[in-house]
Amino acid sequence: MAASVKIDFQPLSAPAGGDVVVFVGEDLEPSARIAELLGKSSELIAKAAAPERFKGKANAALVIPTPAGLDADRLIAVGIGSEGDRSKLNWVELGGVIAGKLSGRSGTVLLDLEGATPSPDDVAQIALGARLRLYKFDRYKTKKKDNDENDTPTKITFASPDPAVARKAAKAADGLAEGVRIARDLVNEPPNVLGPEEFAKRAEELTKLGVEVEILDEKAMRKLGMRALLAVGQGSERESRMVVMRWNGGRAGAKPIAFIGKGVVFDSGGISIKPGGGMEDMKGDMAGAACVVGLMHALAARKAKANVVGAIGLVENMPDGKAQRPGDIVTTMSGQTVEIINTDAEGRLVLGDVLWYVQDRFKPQFMIDLATLTGAILVALAQEYAGMFSNNDELAGRLFEAGKATGEKVWRLPLGPEYDKLIDSKFADMKNTGGRHGGSITAAQFLQRFVNDVPWIHLDIAGTGMNAPQTETNKSWGSGWGVRLLDRLVRDHYER
Ligand code: MN
Ligand code: ZN
Repeated sequence: MAASVKIDFQPLSAPAGGDVVVFVGEDLEPSARIAELLGKSSELIAKAAAPERFKGKANAALVIPTPAGLDADRLIAVGIGSEGDRSKLNWVELGGVIAGKLSGRSGTVLLDLEGATPSPDDVAQIALGARLRLYKFDRYKTKKKDNDENDTPTKITFASPDPAVARKAAKAADGLAEGVRIARDLVNEPPNVLGPEEFAKRAEELTKLGVEVEILDEKAMRKLGMRALLAVGQGSERESRMVVMRWNGGRAGAKPIAFIGKGVVFDSGGISIKPGGGMEDMKGDMAGAACVVGLMHALAARKAKANVVGAIGLVENMPDGKAQRPGDIVTTMSGQTVEIINTDAEGRLVLGDVLWYVQDRFKPQFMIDLATLTGAILVALAQEYAGMFSNNDELAGRLFEAGKATGEKVWRLPLGPEYDKLIDSKFADMKNTGGRHGGSITAAQFLQRFVNDVPWIHLDIAGTGMNAPQTETNKSWGSGWGVRLLDRLVRDHYER
């Protein structure tokens, strides 16, 4: 069983058992209202701070065990920095810091700052950060250590001057936390469990929230002419799938916005097989598709006032007597032909057909695709930013801002006709790799040939979607990256 977390709300009152969490700035003093609730023990913080070198900096925490004069197991002071920093505080991260300290325990967080009580929205962000931090993927561990904190539920009570309002705000963000959880679960699942068919089944659970879900099997895709996607999956014992999800929360007839995800459930490289070291990580080559499913959940859960299409291509790339080979030429759904140079450059073949299908069928306002597409994006940006490629400055600017606001950051790289010659083929309209230089750019340039004039962004998330950096809000291998980013973009710009 995964560790569970229970979040509750109550009015501000003196602590009664468990851990107590308070915020302090660089003066090391809690607000006057909280100092009153803590009585003499509020002086303990300043006393313990010097030997622990705690200076009240944002995201730092000081733990005081069995605080004298207080009915509490531990008094925990969480830093919020100087007064000047207050408006820049990242409440999601602070929620992560708090939950890290309370993991496997129960604690009450006294939500009051001098002159600046956190708004209901801030409280929702703290609760979101706590849920993200406490996520665990341990369903395949059968042996647990004694007193393993994994087994003990965490109980966090937020005490604020207006608990009913805070509760309502926090509840509104629950769907977002759940969307990230779904995306992380999908990325973390082993590839023997999560094949294309099982993945499609999990996406189908969105129908419970009112999302329309269509699953296309190989026969249906053959009929549509999606030969590039099918070519990638033809070496696998498992059939490929495409899932189309629709949330219709906007005006009837209004053009939808569309999100497309690469879902290679396992990428061996195919005949151009990858080296063995680290190949197990290729179970995460579906992080783009996982994000789209998590996002659709988040949007439907909060009944977003927008028409949204999610489309994911689900395939397994395996070497086999039936697998595609280097040298093959395939005809895509668009009619354009592709010479296969390297069967490990398979993601763009899947996305090319799905992008073409989505722009042709739905005539969307914009398309954003997410894909763990190239190792080259790690060379360029490490794991701090996802690579962004776009044919539309306004859309790219909006996503850049959403990245700054959520911490899921994107950095734009160039597209341009001068890169086209790198993917022109001697025998077909294009080839599926452009060589070593600018590998992420030529991959994006390839995708652009399947979007026509629809405003479009390609996000290369090979560095951010899996094997993710450990942060205050993510201790998981699969980060669920992009769900919060895209939910934010929709919320800020695309709801009626
Ligand atoms: Mn590959
Ligand atoms: Zn791949």
